Amino acid sequence: LRVGQLLEQSARRHSDNDALIVPYQNVRWSYAELNRQADETAAGLLALGLNPGDRVGIWAPNMAEWVVLQFATAKAGLILVNINPAYRLAELEFALNQTGVCALITVPSFKSSDYMAMLGELMPEIGKAQAGSLSAEKIPSLRWIITLADSAAPGTITYEEVRAGATDAARQQVQALGQTLQFDDPINIQFTSGTTGRPKAATLSHHNIVNNALFTGLQMKLTHRDRMCIPVPMYHCFGMVLGTLCCVAHGAAMVFASAGFDAEATMEVVEAERCTALHGVPTMFIAALDSPGFAGRDLTSLRTGIIAGAPCPAELMKRIMSQMHMEQITIAYGMTETGPVSTQTSVDDPVQRRVETVGRVLPHTEIKIVDTEGRITPRGTPGELLTRGYCVMLKYWNDPEKTASAIDEARWIASGDIATVDAEGFFQIVGRIKDMLIRGGENIFPREIEDFLYTHPAIEQVEVIGAPDEKYGEEVCAWIKLREGQSATEDEIRAFCQGQIAHFKIPRYIKFVDEFPMTITGKVQKFVMREQMARELE
Ligand code: ATP
Ligand code: MG
Repeated sequence: LRVGQLLEQSARRHSDNDALIVPYQNVRWSYAELNRQADETAAGLLALGLNPGDRVGIWAPNMAEWVVLQFATAKAGLILVNINPAYRLAELEFALNQTGVCALITVPSFKSSDYMAMLGELMPEIGKAQAGSLSAEKIPSLRWIITLADSAAPGTITYEEVRAGATDAARQQVQALGQTLQFDDPINIQFTSGTTGRPKAATLSHHNIVNNALFTGLQMKLTHRDRMCIPVPMYHCFGMVLGTLCCVAHGAAMVFASAGFDAEATMEVVEAERCTALHGVPTMFIAALDSPGFAGRDLTSLRTGIIAGAPCPAELMKRIMSQMHMEQITIAYGMTETGPVSTQTSVDDPVQRRVETVGRVLPHTEIKIVDTEGRITPRGTPGELLTRGYCVMLKYWNDPEKTASAIDEARWIASGDIATVDAEGFFQIVGRIKDMLIRGGENIFPREIEDFLYTHPAIEQVEVIGAPDEKYGEEVCAWIKLREGQSATEDEIRAFCQGQIAHFKIPRYIKFVDEFPMTITGKVQKFVMREQMARELE
């Protein structure tokens, strides 16, 4: 199956079912309606002059049109390039040039940023040239800027104008493409989160993401009766594959609460729409649990969802299960390059496994754990996790060198994560190789110290890194955000650790903070923390 067919299948089987609900845009579309919109938009994009295989970028926050475009580009054989709405000029220019984007779909502004003004700096010909005749020096491939707005700035064209331009010939072309597109054609270029450095352009095929959407839904027992709230961003595979595509694969309703993540709005919509599923990275669940109106909400409709993207502390899992009614929440592990999920807990697994592990390997996927020489480690012994199977990306776009260093000749992709697997096949992620710290020759994974510190009642969030040290090479450093209204001192925290964790793991440095440097996907950027700590300690 290809992405377009997945939507057509749900439009046949669940035509009147709610497909997409976006209260802040007054959108409530059935599957039949969503499919119709995707067909019309696909024809509009081809009629504009785009050709199958061309790259089309979306630089926008979560909104109904994003979902239409996800399926419209798939049906038109275009390669969708997801661009983070938080990107600014330099990042945008890099992303567009790296992937050779021909058309960029964007909003005029978001939050306090004027997107048109930013684009105007990259492309001074906006406002002078005709739509479709841009030939900017800085982004030579870019010909169209399509705005999600009522009226277009000179030199740009609106989304509605594109749709209105659909011709019968283009509609026939969309129909014909439905027969000729191949399941291993590239469909999507997604940038990795940039947690460890510059984002990489993972190129995914229909095969990679369609099957991932199917399997991850099965782990949650998702059906056409489910209603999933999707607060995770669409420009990332968590939103686009585990959120929308997974719902479409199972005929479930997709619900957006807000354009950018907003914990209060998310919980309000979950309650109002009686959502049964909710996705999030750990920091989103923390924010939801601590949102002001939380205690008074009726969340009894909630059942399942996926938490993923970063370590999910056991304490947090227990809170989500008991306080949010999500007894059947699942943990998934994976990376953008593997479509994205390679392991996931199932609602049928014992609770303890669903709290402490990232589950077992998904069907048709292989995982091995190897030592630094590439030898498979004995069960229970940590090593680097590698994945192979249908889900492994085609390549990093336009970057054969990085592709070759990530994927070996036998198609194993290296994750850069250290993991263990137990006798029953449940995996645990110990930490990232790049985040591991070495203190006096002792390898320390921050995860272990973080998990312990989360049992301290005053701590809302804790992130552990290595700080440079002349004597030991590195010293343990913890950044701590306290719960509202709580207090603690460095000495109290150290005393709390005394006798509970090995002396060399007790943080030498403790820093109380209100926030952490984060990627827009909600992941803490430890490399930024390390740089800052090194400067502070100089
Ligand atoms: P970059 O590759 O650009 O540095 P990134 O690796 O964070 O960024 P993603 O592909 O979005 O980009 O994230 C994949 C990574 O997220 C994994 O390699 C792993 O480190 C982490 N991760 C994902 N899920 C989990 C999980 N359930 N538990 C622990 N870590 C996870
Ligand atoms: Mg990565």
